[in-house]
Amino acid sequence: MARTDALVLGAGIVGTSIALHLAKRGLSVALVDRRGPGEETSYGNAGVIEGNTLFPHGFPSGLHSLLRIALKQAPEANYHLSFLPKVASWLLAYRKNTMPEGSKAFATAMRPLYARAVAEHEALMAESGATRYLRRDGWLKIYRSDEAFDKIQPELKFASQLGLSYRTMDEKGGRELEPSLSPVFRHAVHWPEAASVSNPLAVTKAYAARFSALGGVILKGDARTLHRSNGQWRLDTEGGAIDGKEAVVALGSWSQDVLDPLGIKLPLKYKRGYHRHFRAKGNAALTRPVVDTENGYCIAPMEQGIRLTTGAEFADRDAPPTPVQFDRLMPGAKELFPLGEPVEAQPWMGSRPCFADSRPVIGRAPGQSELWLAYGHAHWGLTLGPATGRLVAEMMTGATPFCDPSPYSAERFGNDRRT
Ligand SMILES: Cc1cc2nc3c(=O)[nH]c(=O)nc-3n(C[C@H](O)[C@H](O)[C@H](O)COP(=O)(O)OP(=O)(O)OC[C@H]3O[C@@H](n4cnc5c(N)ncnc54)[C@H](O)[C@@H]3O)c2cc1C
Repeated sequence: MARTDALVLGAGIVGTSIALHLAKRGLSVALVDRRGPGEETSYGNAGVIEGNTLFPHGFPSGLHSLLRIALKQAPEANYHLSFLPKVASWLLAYRKNTMPEGSKAFATAMRPLYARAVAEHEALMAESGATRYLRRDGWLKIYRSDEAFDKIQPELKFASQLGLSYRTMDEKGGRELEPSLSPVFRHAVHWPEAASVSNPLAVTKAYAARFSALGGVILKGDARTLHRSNGQWRLDTEGGAIDGKEAVVALGSWSQDVLDPLGIKLPLKYKRGYHRHFRAKGNAALTRPVVDTENGYCIAPMEQGIRLTTGAEFADRDAPPTPVQFDRLMPGAKELFPLGEPVEAQPWMGSRPCFADSRPVIGRAPGQSELWLAYGHAHWGLTLGPATGRLVAEMMTGATPFCDPSPYSAERFGNDRRT
């Protein structure tokens, strides 16, 4: 029987970063996944390391926006009707948490993690040979209307109060940064404290390779086999059973599959999302990711081409893909940037794990000893993976955590675990 100090379940960017941080601190660690590292949701994101994030993604406001979504005409969101009853109370809680007061509470709770996001990636990249994937030139958000730009003024004001850098500009300024954009927008905001990567999969794989080089073991197995045996956590893998004194659940959108049977029923939901790569026409190019805020998509330069990522789709995690948002957003995207032929035949689909307060759960599992939780990173798993890895490793080894982990505790849901 193989024995370890810790089993880390899930080799997305979050689990891989945790495993690497634990191995760096001298623990014997097995990182277990049913796939290779980084091949699920962590494969397909827009590659933005959002060190600048303050407020959670807003809930649509105004009759026009709500109607467009209800009528399935909105490029920024889609839903499966059958899923709505399952997510209704969660959506109400989400809406409340994205009102001004909730947004500020989110910003206060999450700032210590976002503030470390880029630096923690840089540290892991340096030792993993992954710095070549990093771009330190921020990201650009564009606003087609004055109304959309007006709406973000409270966030900009708050950013100024906290001393976060940003630069507002008109269409001309935006096109000086990204000359291939068309003049279809009126305002842009450049956030230089964000960074981005040209290949999120390669970054997670590089961290996994570094973990192996430090003596960590990567195994294929089904995390749902996790159980107690002789005071240890035991898991069945393709190479046989393996024990760990402690276990960490970092299974992203699949975390409740393991936790529900253990009685840890937290109110996790999913925001599905898609991407597709396109070739750029002619000499057109992007230096950094660009978000078309009113249409809820991002175009990001990747090694595979220009990656166009969609906003949220509310649907059962395992329901077949319905990439209808592309039909709605392609006219606007092609208007903004000269997208050419698609690279793949079909879009890719991923699942953002999301709590209604948009905060992840990081810390001890309630009611189970030697079990740790690190999931629910929503729109920011790539951003927060390494900072989460450090925080979990510090807590597990009894070191002083670099920030107060209490805002991320599972205990915040109390006994009412519906939302
Ligand atoms: C379209 C899109 C764009 C995004 N853009 C950004 C962005 O620009 N910046 C950003 O920070 N974030 C972004 N995100 C969010 C980010 O990708 C996720 O938050 C992040 O990937 C979650 O990482 P994770 O490690 O928690 O989960 P995952 O990467 O999903 O990893 C979970 C792992 O668990 C494994 N697993 C599941 N079930 C089992 C089982 N039973 N047994 C064994 N293994 C199992 C899976 O195989 C997987 O490897 C985006 C997401 C989407 C969908």
